[in-house]
Amino acid sequence: MRYVKHASFKGRLVVLGFGSIGKAVLPLIFRHIDVTPERVKIISRSADKSGIAQEFGVDFLAQPLDEENYEAVLDAHLSEGDFLLNLSVDVSSLALMMFCWRRGVMYLDTCIEPWPGRYADPGTPLSRRTNYALREDVLAFRMDKRTGPTAVVTQGANPGLASAFVKQALYDLATDAGLEFDRPACHEDWAVLARKLDIKVIHIAERDTQVARRRKRRGEFVNTWSVAGFLSEGLQPSELGWGTHEKHWPEGAARHGYGCDAAIFLDRPGAATRVRSWTPLEGSYHGFLITHGESISIADHLTVREDGKAVYRPTVHYAYHPCDDAVLSLHELAGKNWEKQKNARILRDDVTTGIDELGVLLMGHEKGAYWYGSRLSTQQARELVPHNTATSLQVVAGIVGGMVWALKNPRSGVVEPDDLDHDAVLDVARPYLGELVGVRDAWTPLRGRTDLFKEDIDAGDPWQFLNFRVA
Ligand code: NAD
Repeated sequence: MRYVKHASFKGRLVVLGFGSIGKAVLPLIFRHIDVTPERVKIISRSADKSGIAQEFGVDFLAQPLDEENYEAVLDAHLSEGDFLLNLSVDVSSLALMMFCWRRGVMYLDTCIEPWPGRYADPGTPLSRRTNYALREDVLAFRMDKRTGPTAVVTQGANPGLASAFVKQALYDLATDAGLEFDRPACHEDWAVLARKLDIKVIHIAERDTQVARRRKRRGEFVNTWSVAGFLSEGLQPSELGWGTHEKHWPEGAARHGYGCDAAIFLDRPGAATRVRSWTPLEGSYHGFLITHGESISIADHLTVREDGKAVYRPTVHYAYHPCDDAVLSLHELAGKNWEKQKNARILRDDVTTGIDELGVLLMGHEKGAYWYGSRLSTQQARELVPHNTATSLQVVAGIVGGMVWALKNPRSGVVEPDDLDHDAVLDVARPYLGELVGVRDAWTPLRGRTDLFKEDIDAGDPWQFLNFRVA
């Protein structure tokens, strides 16, 4: 089968990290980017036992990077015009970005990682352990870097495609409502459109139903993507973009007191904070309010300011129902006071059934709720691209969409998913997202509540965060 080459690349490509996402992305890179295996190098903590690097004829260097050695190691493999794709954990994204900037190397990552220790040190103030703080550090770095080698930060599925889904959903709702509007050309235009549509709340609403042949064992953390990555973000303070319509200040919440002020954080981990949400196939569910970059960047990009004051912003957050064995893993983890399990397992070839239903749920407008996103089964994912599950394929579709955008826009400076042309990204990603659908529903977080127990709710306004949060 012949595949469209979306971009051609004559430089060298270094893939840093070769875990579940690194392995999943390799086939898609060669399928859609015109680059030969001799120009690709993988650098990762430990040797590749899967044989996948060898299968694609790509050179592999087993070398952990740390604060002392990363420049020396990378200097041997990257110079002006090359590309660094960061798919590792525990290596500072900002350090890599700065390294690439100085050398004229393009860059893409899927989240903003710090060096090890920052999330886990109780001596670090809560605000500094958030994604808000990590993003603010990147925004400070980019102050004078609006041109120059392109660095795309946080471009996977979520963060990443979620920002493109939000724009597509806004576009659909505006068209459906018969609104007269020009195609938004910048984030201020998208914010004005969101305000016009009266979007009050946006969830990144995900229900992963994948199940493997071997179920979770005691003392084991099971997930469909990085266990290390999920543990880190799950134990960060819970965070959400904070909407201008909110009337009830959440218990244990705080503002940061610096930066864009689009988000707040709670004094508890996301792995212990649950919210009500909805996806079309699952219906209503309880998800974890895990911190994610897109909760902050989408809220920030959709803020309307008048005389410097925020007059419109939706509440934005993740409502993640991971696969059932990951929920059991979180439950066990919490019971052991967050002491990590001895064993970790990332599901891939042993998944027998299930889908990842991943989209954005826009609420508060006249239609009630509108979910737009991807539903993809592992079965479909395997037929589309080897070495994948539903989860990994959604992520790598976003990565390759972002890489193609970067290669076509190589001098755009530091950009977030919200800054990219969502049509261009979705054009590349769409064939790998299964059913990409928009579904309307009258769901609200108050629907179907029973009177068995008294609850602290705001019955007059369903779109208050108070009504979503599970007490
Ligand atoms: P993984 O845990 O399976 O793999 C991580 C890789 O990093 C491993 O190959 C490991 O050897 C390597 N590594 C760890 N420490 C290193 C070091 N010091 N130097 C060099 N390599 C090192 O993770 P994954 O599931 O492949 O995820 C990769 C990244 O993508 C993570 O940061 C994760 O949070 C992120 N992610 C983003 C999305 C998204 O949609 N945006 C989705 C899934 C994963």
